Amino acid sequence: MDISVLIIDDSKAIRDTVREHLQMVSLFENYYEAGDGSEGFKIMLKNKIDIVICDIVMPGITGFQFLALKGSKPEFEDIPVIMLTAEESVDHKVRGLEQGASDYVTKPFDPAELIARVKVQLKIKSLQDRLRELAITDGLTRTFNRRYLIELMKKEFYRAKRNKTNLSFILLDIDHFKRINDTYGHQQGDSILVDIVSILEKGIRRHEHVARYGGEEFALLLPETDLNGALTVANNIRKKVEGFKFAGQEKPLNITISLGVATFSDKNIESVDHLIKEADDALYRAKRKGRNRVESGEPWK
Ligand code: GH3
Ligand code: MG
Ligand code: MG
Repeated sequence: MDISVLIIDDSKAIRDTVREHLQMVSLFENYYEAGDGSEGFKIMLKNKIDIVICDIVMPGITGFQFLALKGSKPEFEDIPVIMLTAEESVDHKVRGLEQGASDYVTKPFDPAELIARVKVQLKIKSLQDRLRELAITDGLTRTFNRRYLIELMKKEFYRAKRNKTNLSFILLDIDHFKRINDTYGHQQGDSILVDIVSILEKGIRRHEHVARYGGEEFALLLPETDLNGALTVANNIRKKVEGFKFAGQEKPLNITISLGVATFSDKNIESVDHLIKEADDALYRAKRKGRNRVESGEPWK
């Protein structure tokens, strides 16, 4: 992916020097420049910026004001800012760091130092990105974990309520999975879980989400999908799993799943917990009624 730097300084000569030094070590694909904080902020709103190098004293919007603007946007939180400050201005350095800058370089700057500091910030940023990814994914199946699912559900539930649209939730559980583990071993079980996730991911659209809900339970979150739509999705997935030949040591294995569907529409469901409970109850009914089937949260309809 392209890495982009934004250089904010009222002096074109300084912007040129910074850019030329960075270009010499080919750290970036894209270089953006701005003459003051306001122009710089506008560039950030329109482009994916990975790091900002920003002068403090500028006519118009200063570096401090730029830091405040940037701080008002949560999505900019992890974009590091390296300040360009005058050698003697200790209070500028302190204030800048307190207001969210990650580091500073004093003017006139040493190119090697600037590059080294930029590299450190890019390294920290890539570690932060990796950490965020690890925090939301399940280690075995690489799909979203339950914690992130709940976050997504809160957002989608709020949106469905506000826009008066539907939100469907499907919980599914592998049938007799303990038997699979006992017969073929835990590793075989694990590989089935990975296969199930790829079946699920192929069965959904771009704005829909798959997550590992628990051990051998998975969830699908389907925004703007009514109960009938969700039942169709659930049944298609049920059939796909039923027909799938899971790789086994000697012969392919057949597996089935049970699914519970719940849909928020208008006022029938009061909260995310309620939506989960409806799907969970439906899943329980699907198990009780013989497995390899779909039940919904509104059985009376
Ligand atoms: P049911 O049809 O009622 O769902 O029967 P079941 O055997 O699937 O249900 P149960 O919930 O009793 O057992 C689930 C099993 O899933 C127990 C556990 O060993 C297994 N399991 C949970 N997480 C993992 C995992 O990460 N890997 C493997 N291989 N097995 C797991
Ligand atoms: Mg289970
Ligand atoms: Mg099970």
